[in-house]
Amino acid sequence: MNIVIFGPPGAGKGTQSKFIVNKFKLYQLSTGDLLRSEIKNKTQLGSKISSIINSGELVSDEIVSNLIEKFVSNNTYKDKIIFDGYPRNLVQAKNLDDLLKKYKQKIDIVLKLSVSLETVKKRISERQTQEKRADDNEEIAIKRYQTYEKSSEPVIDYYKQSHLLKVVNGEAGISEINSEISGLIDAIKG
Ligand code: AMP
Repeated sequence: MNIVIFGPPGAGKGTQSKFIVNKFKLYQLSTGDLLRSEIKNKTQLGSKISSIINSGELVSDEIVSNLIEKFVSNNTYKDKIIFDGYPRNLVQAKNLDDLLKKYKQKIDIVLKLSVSLETVKKRISERQTQEKRADDNEEIAIKRYQTYEKSSEPVIDYYKQSHLLKVVNGEAGISEINSEISGLIDAIKG
């Protein structure tokens, strides 16, 4: 089973992905984490993307596409991936379908976590004290939320049309969201 978890910054994608990984024995593919590790390791790619990430914009589709292909092509992860933070726009959504097809896989469910901008601001300021992410301050959080609003609608429509989309109330408590997601995944596992 391959899962896409989708939502604005601060929606709880990372937290919920970790829960799903443990419960359903999957692997988390967080494009944000992969990109941040490039910056941390001071790679050539890292120096190219750090200013983009710190401004709240999206990195190019080509860069993230290369990163995810490394993961999708690896047999260890076959049909066991939770895509956290990918796709972020329609081009990426279509690219993901093509890529999965190439490696004889597909998406089984798309979980969309819905949260308001107010909640995003609150959660990001909490996360800033815990994780110290360079792009976690209120101004950039608003920018990242706007970036999400701008590019997410076509992605949501795309997954609605393919009947893969499940909307989860991301305003609820962590364990409530955990159980809702578990129920949705169990239901499609049959
Ligand atoms: P995240 O950890 O998912 O909030 O991602 C942090 C930042 O990494 C985003 O604000 C983007 O700049 C970049 N990023 C992560 N995933 C993608 C993606 N799929 N496409 C483009 N940029 C991305």
